[in-house]
Amino acid sequence: MDQHQRPNAKRDGVMKPLTAQERLFVETQNQCALCGSALQIRVETYLDDYYLREEAACPVCQIKTRVKNHKMH
Ligand SMILES: [Zn+2]
Repeated sequence: MDQHQRPNAKRDGVMKPLTAQERLFVETQNQCALCGSALQIRVETYLDDYYLREEAACPVCQIKTRVKNHKMH
């Protein structure tokens, strides 16, 4: 599992479908904020310390929009 922080998520233990707002958020996360192109997601694993590293980059603007580390445990 990853460690996305969802401010509106309720910890009631019940899985519910994404709201329209949440869908929009996810889609936004996968598009370049500058040009709207689909981001290229690259994931690397570091098996030494059990981390996943996620990088999202725009192929058009040549920018990295995010780097996230996920601990695999
Ligand atoms: Zn772009």
